[in-house]
Amino acid sequence: MIPAKFDYVAPSTLEEALQALAQGGDDAKVIAGGQSLLPVLRMRLNAPELIIDLGKIDSLRGVRDDGDHIVIGATTTHADVLDDPLVREHALLIAKAETEVADPQVRHRGTFGGSLAHADPAGDLGAPCLALDAELVVAGTGGSTRTISAADFFVDLFTTALEETELLTEVRIPKRTGWGAHYEKFVRVAHQWPIVAVAAAVKVDGGTIAEARVGLTNMGSTPLRATSVERALVGQPATDEAVRAAAATAGEGTNPPSDLNGDADYRRHLAGVLTRRAVLAAAGA
Ligand SMILES: Cc1cc2nc3c(=O)[nH]c(=O)nc-3n(C[C@H](O)[C@H](O)[C@H](O)COP(=O)(O)OP(=O)(O)OC[C@H]3O[C@@H](n4cnc5c(N)ncnc54)[C@H](O)[C@@H]3O)c2cc1C
Repeated sequence: MIPAKFDYVAPSTLEEALQALAQGGDDAKVIAGGQSLLPVLRMRLNAPELIIDLGKIDSLRGVRDDGDHIVIGATTTHADVLDDPLVREHALLIAKAETEVADPQVRHRGTFGGSLAHADPAGDLGAPCLALDAELVVAGTGGSTRTISAADFFVDLFTTALEETELLTEVRIPKRTGWGAHYEKFVRVAHQWPIVAVAAAVKVDGGTIAEARVGLTNMGSTPLRATSVERALVGQPATDEAVRAAAATAGEGTNPPSDLNGDADYRRHLAGVLTRRAVLAAAGA
């Protein structure tokens, strides 16, 4: 289907974009890579009167080093995040997850911030951001900015803490240099959204897991943190037996969907299996 008619602006500064968004109100929508929004428009699930394209705002793009954080601009494409040496060195889990997002075509158009703002519970970047305690920086009208933790950003299915007049500008990720990481995604066919996926980052010290971070994708209406698994892993040897025991509780307290790909119980089972695989791979075991 062809989308409903809309007006289009492509401002070159963040201030102009925020102004257009404030003026447009309910009838305005921003577009970044268009990889999620365009299908929505084509199916006429949404029909905004004004589309504000963020693609010409250079300040929203790129990855930079900021002391104990790396900062990823909201409109940095998945492909650019994946290729960035800072991301690989200090936030390996993000790079690992990016390799699993869609296919090369989508990764060259779709953006890091667009993915998070879209808040699809099956999106591959929410759980890694949650596990790494990422902070999302948001700009509003009148030059206001605020920082939202990943734990507070994802509110519900396709719903974030962003106000209608706000834009996500960048994502700050605390450096975890030297940590092992892995993103284990379970799909029926290649390039699909995950049925379930697990994001794991671990710090191994002399064969023992010193710190662990685990995030779950598609196990509820938002990305989830598997804190009980994290606690159970700390102090354990990075062996199959120890990790298997800790991972067994991954599905507890989750509320996964039931659909044609599998019911909730199956997904809870998958969460345990994939957590074991992700943690062992992250630990290099
Ligand atoms: C065939 C296909 C397969 C895919 N497979 C996967 C997959 O396996 N895993 C996965 O995670 N994703 C997948 N995706 C989605 C892809 O990752 C998109 O890039 C991503 O979901 C949205 O990013 P975007 O830049 O294209 O956002 P857009 O489509 O431009 O926007 C998405 C939403 O976010 C809002 N938005 C965008 N940027 C901002 C901002 N800076 N501030 C505030 N709001 C903003 C828009 O208004 C819109 O509501 C797939 C997409 C396609 C088309």
